[in-house]
Amino acid sequence: MDVDGVLRGYDSDGLAVATIASHSAFQILLGAKEEGMRTIAIAPTGRGWFYSRMWFVDEVWELEPRDLPSVAQKLVSRSAVLVPHGSYVEYVGWRAARDIQVPTFGNRYLLEWEADQHRKMSLLGAAGLRIPRTYGSPDEVDGPVMVKLYGAKGGSGYFVARDRGELADGLRGIDGPYIIQEYVIGVPAYHHFFYSPLRDRVELFGFDIRYESNVDGRTLGLAEPTFVVVGNVPLVLRESLLPGVLRDGESFASAVVDRTSRPPIGPFSLESIVRDTLDIVYFEFSGRIVAGTSVYMVRGSPYSLMYFREPVDMGRRIAMEIREAAESGRLGEIVT
Ligand code: AMP
Repeated sequence: MDVDGVLRGYDSDGLAVATIASHSAFQILLGAKEEGMRTIAIAPTGRGWFYSRMWFVDEVWELEPRDLPSVAQKLVSRSAVLVPHGSYVEYVGWRAARDIQVPTFGNRYLLEWEADQHRKMSLLGAAGLRIPRTYGSPDEVDGPVMVKLYGAKGGSGYFVARDRGELADGLRGIDGPYIIQEYVIGVPAYHHFFYSPLRDRVELFGFDIRYESNVDGRTLGLAEPTFVVVGNVPLVLRESLLPGVLRDGESFASAVVDRTSRPPIGPFSLESIVRDTLDIVYFEFSGRIVAGTSVYMVRGSPYSLMYFREPVDMGRRIAMEIREAAESGRLGEIVT
């Protein structure tokens, strides 16, 4: 889309922030209000009442998220910036998210890379990060593996196989493209970053762990792991790991520039397993805000104090970048 053309018609003193009312909308809209912008919650039918109870939500538009393109013109007429998140991508679909004619915070082209398990891993590899081995065929498998369907949501649709026999059994029930990945043994850690085009830097923002039903739950050996995400838990990493983690975030941002000719812009996440050798193996990225950043909502991430004199959460950080870009005539650098 002609972003610059659309932005020329925008009232930079009267911007609105809009997002799909789910996932991390609470902190995105609260942050936008704290930074003095108007807020629009686009709520799936039947869910608007919840967001209309929030003092910082100015307007609730109830519609099916897949119909978002039908309100594109209305959003533009309100000088709205769309902020994508995981449920936005899930409900609207990455193609519509890529094509929608509304200025979108972040690098929307990265959402397409995220949707394809092979491209996703190739981008992590291009950043020089340690990644799990991907097996080209079930016959190559020589240890425990995890099978991931493309587009699986929140860990559902994954299964673990201890050996080739279990893998063959599991694959019989699969329909659609998938990837067979080495199962990495260690603890999960999800790393939050923010790339600021205005300050030209990658900021380290914090960590979380997902709280997954049949992995973290009291299954008492009665159920297979299903990895369905129910919530998130905050995490601090050993301080000695932090410099390496920040370097990894910077390497990833450079690889994104190489492959998509734009930086990641705004929040992104690198998702890892940390081995008992303290090696960090990255199995996934998210090119937008992750729900786990909500664990620092309002009280802010401790690492944000590296950059700001008060703690800042990710919703507020996004809004700060939008406000500062509007004030300095640089909106075109933070939206695609
Ligand atoms: P995801 O939905 O991709 O975040 O992953 C779902 C769950 O599988 C999370 O608990 C991850 O930590 C775990 N996981 C994903 N890939 C691997 C892997 N290659 N080895 C071990 N665990 C993994």
